[in-house]
Amino acid sequence: MTDRIDCAIDVRDAVKRYGSFTALKKISLSIKDNEFFTLLGPSGCGKTTLLRMIAGFETVTEGEIFLYGAEIENLPPFKRPVNTVFQNYALFPHMTVLDNVGFGLEMKGASKTDARKRAGEMLELVQLSQFSDRKPSQLSGGQQQRVALARALAPEPKVLLLDEPLSALDLKLRKAMQIELKHLQRETGITFIFVTHDQEEALTMSDRIAVMSAGELQQLGEAREIYERPRNMFVADFIGETNLLEVSVDKIEEGRAVCHLGGGHELTCNAVDGIGVGSQVHMNIRPERLFMSDTPVEAESLKGIVQDNIFIGTDLSTIVKLSNGVDFIVRTSNSDRGNKRIFEPGSEIYVNMELGAARLLVD
Ligand code: ATP
Repeated sequence: MTDRIDCAIDVRDAVKRYGSFTALKKISLSIKDNEFFTLLGPSGCGKTTLLRMIAGFETVTEGEIFLYGAEIENLPPFKRPVNTVFQNYALFPHMTVLDNVGFGLEMKGASKTDARKRAGEMLELVQLSQFSDRKPSQLSGGQQQRVALARALAPEPKVLLLDEPLSALDLKLRKAMQIELKHLQRETGITFIFVTHDQEEALTMSDRIAVMSAGELQQLGEAREIYERPRNMFVADFIGETNLLEVSVDKIEEGRAVCHLGGGHELTCNAVDGIGVGSQVHMNIRPERLFMSDTPVEAESLKGIVQDNIFIGTDLSTIVKLSNGVDFIVRTSNSDRGNKRIFEPGSEIYVNMELGAARLLVD
């Protein structure tokens, strides 16, 4: 037993092996009560496996999982205070929307009247009351997913597991549902554990994100922290667009590292524990932390030539090639463009950094 009552799920050194293949390699993480928590990673990284272990659909090879302080290894799925929403909705086609939502409650022993009352409340919560009598095939994809949500929320689980529930929806609907899901989580106070490979989706909705790769936890933190202070190359590259530069550390003085990026270019950033003089490492700079000018604005302005401008709605993404052949992406917001110039392809310009924009990555 654990005495942390604010902890919904505590995964301790969990390993999952399928024969000789290890899908999860000693994962430890705690998910807080009432948190919107996301497991994020590329296909095959083990996020669904971890979710299925929490739900009880998979056994844990080694390690333990605690749910509100209780070890759950020997609890079958239907006895866990957990419910799952799947990507494919899995609604019963021959039942009405109301019956779909109430069915699980009746299975758990509720009377027909109570089940219908609760189902009605849940449909109100997801704003589908007017569709109670329809069959699932008479609803849009987004509406069907909301029915699946209402059904999963109806028995008042302590934890709701969501396995890529929005991936079958088109982009616009997905974005609307992201906001709706976040509201729903706040309104119900239920702990949500959301699985996705879409980093933007994770950043939009989550209180905290666990970034996974190849069965390992790479970083766990709030969205902003993961975006602004990625722990390693994998996280920096997977979350958002970024410039990852190969640099060698020439000098470290007063907590600052002077780095060389070839072609006579130098950049200074904060020194990092574990990265000494002579190290060959990567430097991470987010494109929106860079800006361009036609004359150098500081000693470390990097001279380059504009290759291309790509209009991406809210931003303009400019590709700049430095004299050492390294390409930089510089993002300028179209809303605060003000008197910032657009530099046409072929222009000789300088790339400048905001203070603290560059970070060295340990691995
Ligand atoms: P996706 O986003 O594609 O669903 P994921 O991160 O959820 O990926 P998992 O489904 O957890 O990945 O799978 C993790 C790894 O474990 C994969 O390499 C997968 O092939 C493997 N795996 C999953 N289930 C089994 C199984 N029953 N037997 C053998 N290997 C499995």
